[in-house]
Amino acid sequence: MSAHAFLPPSSAHIWGHRRGCQAWPALMRDNPPDDVPETQDQRDGHEAHSVGAALILGDGSANKVCSDNPEIQEAAELYAAYCTSLVTRDNRSVEWKLRITSVHEKNWGTPDFLGVSNDTLHVVDLKYGMREISAFENWQCLDYAAAAIGFFPGIKKIKIHIVQPRVYRSGGPIDTWELSFSDFIDNYLTQLKESADIATSSGAQTRTGKHCRDCVMRYKCRAALNAGAALFEVACEPVTFEPDAESLGLYYSLVRRASEQIGYILKGVEGEITARLKSGEKVSGCALEPAYGRLTWRYPVEEVIELANAFGVDISKPGVKTPTQAKKELPVELLVKLAHRPLNGLKLNNNINDLARRIFS
Ligand code: SF4
Repeated sequence: MSAHAFLPPSSAHIWGHRRGCQAWPALMRDNPPDDVPETQDQRDGHEAHSVGAALILGDGSANKVCSDNPEIQEAAELYAAYCTSLVTRDNRSVEWKLRITSVHEKNWGTPDFLGVSNDTLHVVDLKYGMREISAFENWQCLDYAAAAIGFFPGIKKIKIHIVQPRVYRSGGPIDTWELSFSDFIDNYLTQLKESADIATSSGAQTRTGKHCRDCVMRYKCRAALNAGAALFEVACEPVTFEPDAESLGLYYSLVRRASEQIGYILKGVEGEITARLKSGEKVSGCALEPAYGRLTWRYPVEEVIELANAFGVDISKPGVKTPTQAKKELPVELLVKLAHRPLNGLKLNNNINDLARRIFS
């Protein structure tokens, strides 16, 4: 098994269902993304997974596997404690690479955690990112469930758990969805199989939808660009009549859909331009500029109050805790000594006016 499957579970939400894009796997194979260095977020995600897995395998002790980053440590501990509460030690598998032949021979992957308790198969996925992911119809986990059913006979229910320690949702950091085994086989496994067969055939078609936001090809995919343009055109048509409630609702859905589709393409284009600029290539009208964070004190707040006092300014009154709040009290020259905006990375700047001026002057 090579590292990357033609049909990866992590992208089953793109290729694995009837409303998905079955052409995606072949397009990815033919247009492999450039090798770009791992981002800090990706490194943090990997670390959270490896610390979490080690904690589960050591039953939470194992000389306390630790990360230097307290946020990663907290996330890994929450995930490990949740997994170990679901099933006993003998009925689980952690980061076990599996072929998912019940779907297709080109489908394999590594589920974070699988386990069985009584007649229920638990599929747990740790997401360290900030984007909220739902357990409901989570195609990645459904694909993992397809891998597990052969190993755990007698299952009557499947429960999917998405653990997202860094996402603040009303119900807490864990989202779950349960379905019956028969529902899984009749509806979801069937869809995965059908989609896998189409995706590996010559008849695979591109189909746009929400999944495009996770596709690295969206900035050059004709279907996505056409869909974005078509939706944009329709959404921009002037409404010359007084719409009834139904038309208004429909129009709102359309404009929202257009704005989402354009947003996916925009993110893709920005990512591509940023990568090219970082590699030294010039892109017309675009530049990377330093991005600065919020105004913060250079020293602990107590020291800042003392230093300001030494200059005859009292900023100790209640509520004056941030440089922005203290701005009124502090002379500018003192403020720049005590506070600064830390560099937060680079941001893409697109000065279309400059570009137009250069082209047309
Ligand atoms: S952008 Fe959307 S339609 Fe185009 S290849 Fe990617 S997933 Fe398919």
